[in-house]
Amino acid sequence: MSLNLIELNEIDKEYRIGENKLHVLRRVTLHIKSGEFVCVTGPSGSGKSTLLHIIGCLDRPTAGDYLLDGVNVLNAGDESLSRLRSNSLGFVFQTFNLISFLTLLENVELPFLYSDSNIDKKHARQKALSAIKRVGLSDRITHRPFQLSGGEMQRTAIARAIAINPKLILADEPTGNLDSKTGKNILDILKKLHADGTTIMMVTHDMQVASAAQKTIQIQDGSIC
Ligand code: ADP
Ligand code: MG
Repeated sequence: MSLNLIELNEIDKEYRIGENKLHVLRRVTLHIKSGEFVCVTGPSGSGKSTLLHIIGCLDRPTAGDYLLDGVNVLNAGDESLSRLRSNSLGFVFQTFNLISFLTLLENVELPFLYSDSNIDKKHARQKALSAIKRVGLSDRITHRPFQLSGGEMQRTAIARAIAINPKLILADEPTGNLDSKTGKNILDILKKLHADGTTIMMVTHDMQVASAAQKTIQIQDGSIC
């Protein structure tokens, strides 16, 4: 049994736009062990988000091999992919992606609607409340996103990501819309989750933010350099 949580071998990604092909990732080989905190940096348009989406099973490569926690993602059917996504992966995005008409607590409970763990409502609520406590927002659970600051919205998104206790958190420019002090607070939360054993993969174009990670991977024009 391999210790690699993520194993990408020679991944290529092309987008087709009309007649044209856009070659976004080129022969990307990347092995990440369980428990690592890895940062992906590179200029805008270099393929960072595309890489993260492929790792998160939100997009498929054009060529190559991908094993996630021992599962061959490219051969997996829709059902096992959605099971992987809802039981093993937590996403955090630059724009938070909260549902505006739901309360903070309801937003954090959302992943349980899609999880196949057969968790009952009461248990889901307990897990959501515990995730909210970990990000320090227990006094805001009935707030809706418009009643929260940017940092609080991102902490809510992190609570939603960790509520299912994922093995892997994928964060795409999680501090990109925040001032530097609030951004540091978000990084401290991610560092704490890492210290507690979660594997974290974070995309940023900010070298200062990247210094939170143990390991940095640089990507340029779709290739790791
Ligand atoms: P980054 O996150 O490093 O800024 P992206 O991975 O978002 O870069 O994008 C890499 C390149 O792929 C960009 O040129 C972008 O326009 C293009 N691209 C991204 N997603 C798509 C898509 N769904 N269809 C076509 N082109 C895309
Ligand atoms: Mg991006």
